Parts: sequence; C-alpha cells; structure tokens
Amino acid sequence: MQRLQAFKFELMPTGEQQRQMRRFAGSCRFVFNKALALQKERHERGEKKLGYAGLCKELTAWRNGAETPWLADAPIHPLQQTLKDLERAYANFFAKRADFPRFKKKGQSDSFRYPDPKQIKLDQANSRLFLPKLGWLRFRFSRDVLGVVKNITVSLSCGKWFVSIQTEREVEQPIPQGGAIGIDMGVARFAALSDGTFYAPLNSFKRHEITLRKAQQAMSRKVKFSRHWKKEKLRIQKIHSRIGNARRDYLHKTSTTISQNHAMVCIEDLQVRNMSKSAAGTTEAPGRNVRAKSGLNKSILDQGWFEFRRQLDYKMAWNGGWLVAVPPQYTSRTCPCCGHVSAENRQTQAKFACVECGFEENADVVGAINVLRAGHARFACEVSGAVMPPAAGIRRSDSRAVQCRA
Ligand SMILES: [Zn+2]
Repeated sequence: MQRLQAFKFELMPTGEQQRQMRRFAGSCRFVFNKALALQKERHERGEKKLGYAGLCKELTAWRNGAETPWLADAPIHPLQQTLKDLERAYANFFAKRADFPRFKKKGQSDSFRYPDPKQIKLDQANSRLFLPKLGWLRFRFSRDVLGVVKNITVSLSCGKWFVSIQTEREVEQPIPQGGAIGIDMGVARFAALSDGTFYAPLNSFKRHEITLRKAQQAMSRKVKFSRHWKKEKLRIQKIHSRIGNARRDYLHKTSTTISQNHAMVCIEDLQVRNMSKSAAGTTEAPGRNVRAKSGLNKSILDQGWFEFRRQLDYKMAWNGGWLVAVPPQYTSRTCPCCGHVSAENRQTQAKFACVECGFEENADVVGAINVLRAGHARFACEVSGAVMPPAAGIRRSDSRAVQCRA
C-alpha cells in the first residue's frame, strides 16, 4: 500500500536566504496575479482561456522581457507551479468546488513549491536541505523523514519560514484494530462516541477572541503601514497562528486516538460548507435568525469539523480501517431502544427520553448510537453491492474491493 505523507519543519535560513525566499514568494505571487489578470482580459475580449502550456509561454516572455526582468532571478519550476495552481483554481471553480480565483495579496500564505525531486537534496544527517537558487538551508530536524521525496513547499508564517516535505513510500497493508464506533459531532461537546466517551470542545478561538479584538482595535488606531501598525499586525498574526496551532494539535490527537482504536468509524455526513454559509443571506432572500446562526457558524468553524473529518479519513485509511459517512436524518430523534421517531424524544439539548418506552440517555450518545446503526446498515448494503450505488459514503484504504470481514 502506498502512503503519501508530508513532514514539516521550521527552517533556519541566513539573512540572505530570507531575502531570497521573500523575493521568490513575491515573484510567484506576481506571476499568479498577472496570469489571472490575463485570463480575465481574454475572457472580456471573448477569447478562450489559455491552457497551462500557453501560460508557460507567456511566463517565458515575461522573464525575458524588459518590463519584469527580475522574474528571471527566481527559480523557474516554482513559477510554473503557480501557473498550475491557477489552473487548479479554475478547475475547482468550474466544478463548483470553490469560488472564482482571487488575486493574491502579500502576507497571505506566502509560499512556493519545488515540484522536481531531482533538484532537491535532503541531507538528514546534517539536518540540511539543498534547494535551487537558495543553496543549503538548515532546518529544525525534529523527526526522521520517511520515504522518497516527491516535492517541497517553502512557506512563511508569522515571520517564520517552514518547509513541508512531501514523500511517498510503500507500507504493508495494515490490519485494522478494534471494533466499530459512531460519532456525533456537536457544539457543546466536540464529539460524543457511541460507547459513551466524550471529547470536550477546544474553542481555541473563543478563548483568544478578546485578546484578538483588543489587538485589532489597537491596530485600527495606528497609521496604516506605519512602523507601529506593522508591529500590531504581527501581534494579530501571532494570535491567529497560536489559535490555529492549538486547534490542529487537538484535532490530530483526537483523530489519531479514534482511528487507532477502531476498525470502522461512522460519522454524520454534514455539509460543513453549507452549514457555515453566510447566515445573512442576500438582499433578495435575507437570512433568518441571523445572529443565532452566525454564532453557530463561528462555533462550527472554530471546532474544525471539516478538518477533523479529513484527518479521520486518511488516518483510517493508514490504519486499514473504514470511514462511513451516513446522512444525518433523525439521528437525534430516534430511540435506539424501540425505534420510535419523535421530536419530543429530545426534550433538551442534552437529554434524550423516549416518549414511547421511557429509555433515557445523553442526547449526544443517542445520536452517536444511531449514526453507528445507520453506518452498519449502509456498510452491509454497500458490501452486498446490489442495493446502493458504490462509493457514496464509504472509503476504503486501498483500491481493493470492499470485503466484509464479519
Ligand atoms: Zn423508545
């Protein structure tokens, strides 16, 4: 089984290397924006969109032209890579997966990627890395890099430079450990498992919200782009990065624990993107309960449900298990004891009491049990193959056909 994995380290560049990297990131941003502007112009003139090869030709002209000769100082592959990124942005837009590509701004995900492993040298023994036009770079070597290097991304975050090394390696087909479990995601509790385990919400954003707001107010009082303004801006970025780091760490720990101890995980197939869509609505169709919904949106995004699901997905695959997504219908209203479906079953946010048979349990645990049941049903259908179209909600770790082990 092939395993793709990224390893991220902090770089320890020299002053000259930092200046170079800033220039390269700037050149990539410039090329992205110029190519996007070109595509927009062509569209307005009624011309066809340029493909990747056409854009590369333009890039060569820009590098050799008199207007932007400094583009020739940046390595060519990362510049071409940004054109590929733009292509993907367009493809995602046409497939309705994303909004229309936007111009990049300085300071927002400054990064560039070296796609060619032949030009990269990784010297783990001396914790250093060779990159074209940058030379040997030292990095904080915190763990071994496993596998063959495929590509490398250099990025800037809060004044620190990082390198992400994408690798590929062959691992043995893992045998999943443990049984099946259902998960109910919530705001009051981050996740409730069908066996009664709870994970408390982290709410990293909420905790930092006041600090963040004060810093933002302080920045708004400063003269834009002045020395003090930049200082405040860096402070805000640091708070954001601390929030992000705490959340990522929490999500990783939780998803690792769950995926290592279960062979099958059932989860509600919530469309986080829809749920967290702007509550305000449009002028033609103004939203209802705007305040309450925007509060919920904030909580949902803060919990990182989507990221959690993404992590569970690939970690279950790494461990040889299954992730089953089930439609979230009636999971909070069905009695797991007698099967009675009623909105009255759920009396409060936390308490479930069946009006038919009197079964009582925490509402989140009931939700998780129902998700597990629905997952079992779905899994059985999918394995027998006849009832449901395949690949709707079940992911298997490898390309082999899904086999029932029960
Ligand atoms: Zn009941």
